[in-house]
Amino acid sequence: MSRMAHVADSSYAPRRGEGGQMAGDDPHIHVESAVVRRSAAVRDLMASAFGLAADLPSLVRTGCGLRVPYAMTSPRPDSVTCLACREHAQAEHLRFADEVEHLGRMPGSTITSEQAKLAADKHRELAKRFSSADD
Ligand SMILES: [Zn+2]
Repeated sequence: MSRMAHVADSSYAPRRGEGGQMAGDDPHIHVESAVVRRSAAVRDLMASAFGLAADLPSLVRTGCGLRVPYAMTSPRPDSVTCLACREHAQAEHLRFADEVEHLGRMPGSTITSEQAKLAADKHRELAKRFSSADD
């Protein structure tokens, strides 16, 4: 009738090897170091300005200085899990916002100051989203 003692006894097996599942690979999603340049709007702009084709390399440099497959990177604030990369992306977007605003004010610029303001706002918004991981 009572099998409890038997079951408890025979199923006694110490579980080992339950740690260390992160050994070897990097589970984080990074941003490409050229995160701003890769954004769609900027890429179009660069393509029309310089005739550059959107040629994606298989390995890209990340904001934290690694080289990872392109698939392990994302330009989206809600996808990037590498903290150093989030900080990098935040800084890059802020820097670009300043840059584009400056461009918009330059005489003879191909973009109006209004376009520049819109672009700057968008990149500042992105920067903010990169800065608050769990808001
Ligand atoms: Zn990273």
